[in-house]
Amino acid sequence: MRVDIVSIFPEALAPLEVSLLARARDRGLLQVRVWNLRDFTVDRHRQVDDVPYGGGPGMVMKPEPFFAAVEAIAAEAAGRPRVLLTSPQGRRFDQRYAEELARERHLALLCGRYEGVDERVAQGLPAEEVSIGDYILNGGELPAMVIVEAVARLLPGVVGDQASIAADSFTSGLLDHPHYTRPAEFRGMAVPEVLLSGHHEAIRRWRRREQLRRTVARRPDLIAWDRLSEEDRALLRDDGSL
Ligand code: SAM
Repeated sequence: MRVDIVSIFPEALAPLEVSLLARARDRGLLQVRVWNLRDFTVDRHRQVDDVPYGGGPGMVMKPEPFFAAVEAIAAEAAGRPRVLLTSPQGRRFDQRYAEELARERHLALLCGRYEGVDERVAQGLPAEEVSIGDYILNGGELPAMVIVEAVARLLPGVVGDQASIAADSFTSGLLDHPHYTRPAEFRGMAVPEVLLSGHHEAIRRWRRREQLRRTVARRPDLIAWDRLSEEDRALLRDDGSL
């Protein structure tokens, strides 16, 4: 997959150089190019913002550099990417959205700053607005990193063990079960006996029950009650949660 990121603070995209993302790039599974929005200005001061029409506080990001950047990306890639504009007003990013984006060949992520981006970027490019949650950050760089990391995890080969992705919270429709590693006892807290038993079927059932129990307790909104299997219902009944 190819991802282009447009920002006035390329240095804020440093997580691209670390851990799984860096390895995915080294191995050619993920191709990322960062573009400095200021390179698409035409004035002496390389100005990317201007005062808002109608008055009011702060500055608004100008449309022209974003259009020029996306046109340069499309020309270089010989095709138009799916263009996403980071915005707290956009479609909420979640695991389903990440899965949808992971099926694309090419994404371009535009990072806003200041009071936001001139409306004609979303309207005219067009760019799909994407939000990482109901809070306001200073800029779109962290949202872009969240999106790239969540999407890259889903690309074949990026995470070594595909089974770990299948078990992740949200991927399976339930929260993940608790995890333990050595030592078997730590400061009076013991690892559940069943996990030490070597009994694969008992471990599988325990993990499934923990997933269900956690999801009911913490995120009941995630559960598709009508689509629970007979085994899931039985586990919940045993647990008193159904
Ligand atoms: N005035 C804008 C509003 O209320 O919708 C917020 C502007 S915010 C300070 C500046 C930029 O940060 C936005 O244009 C966007 O690119 C990014 N941003 C901030 N919070 C975000 C969020 N929750 N999700 C995605 N992008 C966000």
